[in-house]
Amino acid sequence: MNEQHADTGGVKLDPTAPKRVIDYSLRRRAALADLEEGRVTLGEVCDADRYLVRAAEFHGHVSDELCPVCRKEHLVTVKWVYEESLGDASGSARTAEEIDELARTHDEFTVHVVEVCRSCKWNHLVESYDVGWPAGLSAKIRRANSLRGQA
Ligand SMILES: [Zn+2]
Repeated sequence: MNEQHADTGGVKLDPTAPKRVIDYSLRRRAALADLEEGRVTLGEVCDADRYLVRAAEFHGHVSDELCPVCRKEHLVTVKWVYEESLGDASGSARTAEEIDELARTHDEFTVHVVEVCRSCKWNHLVESYDVGWPAGLSAKIRRANSLRGQA
């Protein structure tokens, strides 16, 4: 048994490295094309609710990209975490630092990256991915650490 990595067969896993990344840029482009060609209305795609806009204010990261719809504001990306094992944290917006910390202490959970325009309320899912330890491993690591007096 060689310390903390015994359970992974000696492979050093990085729980903060994104896995199963899904890129939604094609769907985003399709939504913008639908808007341009009148197949959907502004109200249908620019429908960020107050909760999402607030999350963008408090937990968001301002990107370099201007809003593709109104071109008045820079888009803000917000990361949401989902997984039952996260308890109350599931379904909440988190900063990148908070997500790294959750990933180091929990089994795999899903992160949704959503872009929001605070001006016209355009919003779209940009990307989703999983971070965290493979199922069951975070508890084993916690136990190993507490046995070594690092709890
Ligand atoms: Zn906008």
